Amino acid sequence: MNASPEKIDGAKPLAAIIGGGPAGLMAAEMLSEQAEVHVFDAMPSLARKFLLAGKSGLNITHGEEFASFINRFGDAREKLRTALEAFTPQDVRDWAAGLGIETFEGSSHRIFPRQMKASPLLRAWIQRLGRAGVTFHTKHKWRGWTDDGALVFETPDGERLFTPAATVLALGGASWPRLGSDGGWTRLLAEKGIRINELKPANCGFEVSWSEHLKTRFAGHPVKSVALEFGGTRIKGDFVVTETGVEGSAVYALSGPLRDEIASNGKALLKIDLAPDRDEARLVRELERPQGKSSMANFLRKVAGIEGVKAALLREAGPDLPWDPTQLMKRIKHLELVLTAPRPIAEAISSAGGIALDDLGTDYMTSVPGLFAAGEMLDWEAPTGGYLLTACLATGRAAGLGAGEFLARTR
Ligand SMILES: Cc1cc2nc3c(=O)[nH]c(=O)nc-3n(C[C@H](O)[C@H](O)[C@H](O)COP(=O)(O)OP(=O)(O)OC[C@H]3O[C@@H](n4cnc5c(N)ncnc54)[C@H](O)[C@@H]3O)c2cc1C
Repeated sequence: MNASPEKIDGAKPLAAIIGGGPAGLMAAEMLSEQAEVHVFDAMPSLARKFLLAGKSGLNITHGEEFASFINRFGDAREKLRTALEAFTPQDVRDWAAGLGIETFEGSSHRIFPRQMKASPLLRAWIQRLGRAGVTFHTKHKWRGWTDDGALVFETPDGERLFTPAATVLALGGASWPRLGSDGGWTRLLAEKGIRINELKPANCGFEVSWSEHLKTRFAGHPVKSVALEFGGTRIKGDFVVTETGVEGSAVYALSGPLRDEIASNGKALLKIDLAPDRDEARLVRELERPQGKSSMANFLRKVAGIEGVKAALLREAGPDLPWDPTQLMKRIKHLELVLTAPRPIAEAISSAGGIALDDLGTDYMTSVPGLFAAGEMLDWEAPTGGYLLTACLATGRAAGLGAGEFLARTR
């Protein structure tokens, strides 16, 4: 293997950003004035997960009040607060506008680019970074360090070394590994003594032992306008029945606590309200109406709007539906689904776990001097809704600024 050390000379100090997703590109933007910035990525092109997120509209941030917004980060809230206060959802919108991308707030307060895709924003961003002097090196897979501290990259032309004065890692989590983030960095950083919490699926689907009937007839069917409840949190929305279980936005919103419950107890009981717009008393009154000659299926469709996949879910909980209106109401509004495992991290929207936030400085420097980290590779999780990208951009910004201060201190 060719191991030619490479040093790129320049008046400014050298900075390496490893990982060209949203966190890494934001770090590059912060550093470009004061350093000669080189962005390295394992893939043939940058930000593939960001582009994929654009396929579903690119929910780039969320318009709710900041006090609620920050609560979506759970236990990591206080650790992320400074970075998020310095780059708020409004700042995300202003930043996108600076790249010529107008955004709008949807009915659920989710914020999207008008074009509902990521490619125009990414194109404008990469061009602006190029004009600022940032150099991009794709097909450069980072493999660790040499004994004397040079970064080692595997490239189609063999091994290349690079020795920067500061490095920002923005290597992502471990979901959708074919887009570049495969979590392979955990071992490299653990060997350096950096504390890594296990990467786990977040915003993920779960496994359910469906009957053959449900699986073959209803896999792929959306279950609309339901409420899901777990651990005292109730989420109104939709989910999808899959061949292996359930997935979709309402499930994702509860996925952290469901995953942790399964890890502790081997299973989690997810409650489903199939008629969330009817309260219990109203539903009982409706179910007390005379059924006449209607079949049970027709009766449920007419009085409670339960049909198709919803009716199948009701029967999945037990073949015989109770005739007693109160018992039937309970089945409809308190259906229990036994979740047995989260789906693999490779299928998840994002990952939890990663570099322990307690071990990062407020400047996002790790315990290794001059080595910074940002984005999804840090140990925080949040629901879908634009929270993930906002935190990746905000921590990328904080790590870039932190690396800039480090360079100024150590020059
Ligand atoms: C289907 C889908 C839809 C999504 N939709 C949304 C959404 O609408 N809104 C939202 O907020 N979030 C969404 N997300 C999540 C969001 O895309 C991620 O949280 C975000 O991209 C993470 O940014 P990052 O920069 O930390 O990491 P990444 O975007 O994963 O980028 C990391 C980069 O590091 C590179 N890399 C990894 N290892 C190495 C290595 N060893 N050497 C060199 N390079 C390496 C990778 O190739 C990659 O380019 C979605 C995710 C998925 C999968």
